Order: sequence, then structure tokens, then C-alpha cells
Amino acid sequence: MSNVTVCVRFRPLSSKEKGDLGDNICIQTLDSETFIIKDEKEEGFTFSFDKVFYEKSKQADVYEFLVLPIVQDAFNAINGTIIAYGQTGAGKTYSMEGPNILESDEQKKGILPRVVDGLFACIRSSNDSTKYTIKLSMVEIYMEKVRDLFDLSKDNIQIKESRTQGILLSGATEISLLDTAQALQSLSSGIANRAIGETQMNMASSRSHCVYIFTLNQESITEKRAKSGKLILVDLAGSEKVEKTGAEGRVLEEAKTINKSLSALGNVINALTCGSPAKANHIPYRDSKLTRILQDALGGSSRTALLCCCSPSPSNSSESLSTLRFGARAKHI
Ligand code: ADP
Ligand code: MG
Repeated sequence: MSNVTVCVRFRPLSSKEKGDLGDNICIQTLDSETFIIKDEKEEGFTFSFDKVFYEKSKQADVYEFLVLPIVQDAFNAINGTIIAYGQTGAGKTYSMEGPNILESDEQKKGILPRVVDGLFACIRSSNDSTKYTIKLSMVEIYMEKVRDLFDLSKDNIQIKESRTQGILLSGATEISLLDTAQALQSLSSGIANRAIGETQMNMASSRSHCVYIFTLNQESITEKRAKSGKLILVDLAGSEKVEKTGAEGRVLEEAKTINKSLSALGNVINALTCGSPAKANHIPYRDSKLTRILQDALGGSSRTALLCCCSPSPSNSSESLSTLRFGARAKHI
């Protein structure tokens, strides 16, 4: 993997944060790539990323910088991955879905509806000698088990590797996307299933990873050639540390599992971006379900975008620092 783009997005202060500390923020902007963040002891740390989206950034800014180039490359059969990382409440789902997946306010639409628009717009503007099909699967990884969000009876999907098609979610539902409206309805139904799972199993969405897989197939009618590209979007489980004291039972098990898969993700991205051949030979994809699913979307000639979502509040500075360190490590070349 040569191409990992790492961006940071600071959401606006929440009303609770404002209530507690007024308009105080722990960030000092230097430019569109660099800022200083202060920890609890007022010590400052400078970070640079490919782009920093501050509180006033627009959904369209994030999409155009981070995601659109990857959507366009899917048409060249280059796989892409877009990952939202950060503590619970930092803005991962807002960035991915928007306030609501069916949000009608154009400005507030998140990455997913824009990806759908982008895919159909590319198809409309292309020539007629190519036949396109777009398919969507949606799964959730909870406690290292993969659940099909389009069919809740499939609650333990196996990950397989095929020589011709790469990594496959064996038996996972694939919905053919026909137009924007139907695609959004499909996304919405998958997201709703995630919510049903939550109440049934009493699990918060912040404890699971949500994975959206778009497969774009192109068949040239004249030349009888076919190519395919995969776009995977991931709304990760919250990266916050669970208090070691106090947490027990399921909560502790969840925290350990999440921690393990997020560090596996960090290790994989790091091994891929690190030029050393020794490391390149062993990329630890098999250390978690998450990295295994992402294997061929991260490796090979693919593109990866990491959006590190942070609160700008001093009350969350230690979690923000930990998110930024994850992003910096992913970027390290
Ligand atoms: P996460 O998915 O990381 O747990 P959310 O995306 O649910 O966090 O965001 C937490 C809250 O902050 C939500 O109420 C959301 O609407 C709000 N929020 C997050 N990012 C933004 C943003 N960029 N602009 C406005 N509100 C935001
Ligand atoms: Mg969320």
C-alpha cells in the first residue's frame, strides 16, 4: 500500500462540553495541516496530517478531499478503504452517514450517501459500451463475530479467501444497487438492523465495527472484458479506554476485543506503510476479523483513507491525543 491518507476532523463542541467549560477548546490551529493540542497539564503537542478539518468544516469538504478520489479509482478497479476512527461521540457516524442516512439537507449528507451519488454519477457520465453493476453488503463485527445486517439470521459469517475474488464474506447478503433512492433505502435498512441488534442484545453501536462493502463490476460489452473494484467503508467501534477498575464481565470483554482489533488495524496499516521488506512479508491480517475483512482492500495497489475524529474539548484531550497518535502512527513512512 503506497497510499494512505490520514485526516483529522474536529467536531464542534457539544452543548454538554460548552455547559461544562464554555467555549474552551484544547486545539490551536496553525494551518490546514498542522495544529497544537494541549493535554490536561497544558503541555502542547504539534501534529501534522494530510488535512485537518476544523469545527466549521463541511461534509462536502471531507468527501471531496478524502473520499472522491477513491471512488473515482474504484472505476479503475483499484480497491479503496475509508475508515472512521475515534472515541465514542467524536463524530464517526456523523461523518459517515450524516445526522441521518436519509438526510435530505444536501449540506449535511455524510460520506455514504455521497459515495452512492458519486458511483451513480460516474456511471451516468461514462460511455454506453460498459455495463455496470454495484452491489452492497453490510456487516457488523461484534466480539469477533461477523453479523449480516441485511439478514440477522446470519449471525456468524465466515471470512474466506478465493483465488479469483480475494477475500469473501461467505454467504453474506449482497444487494444490487439500482439507483440512489433504492441504495439509500438499503443502507437505511441495514443501519436499522444494527439498531434492532442493539436493543435485543443490549449492545451499544459504539461497541461494534460497522462495515459497508460496495463492489463495482464493469463489463465491456464490445471487448468482453470485465473488471471489478471494491470500496469498503468502516465506522469503527469507539476507541476510548475503558476504566480498568470498575469494568468487568461483558463490558471488559468488549473493551479487550475492541482494543485488540484496533491495535491489529494499527499494526497492519503500519506494516503496510513501513517500507521495510521484512515487515512487508508479514502483514498480520489474521490477527482480527476486521483486518482480515480489509485484507485485499488495504493491501496490493489500493487506496486507504483514515479519518481520525476528535472532540475539541479540553475534557476529552487525552482521548483525542490517543486518536491522533493512532493516526500519526498509521501515517508514519
Ligand atoms: P460517534 O459515531 O463517533 O460515536 P457521532 O457521529 O454519533 O459520534 O457524533 C456525536 C454527536 O456529535 C452527534 O450528536 C452528532 O450529530 C454530533 N456531531 C458529530 N460531528 C459533527 C459535526 N461535524 N457537526 C455537527 N455535529 C456533529
Ligand atoms: Mg457512531
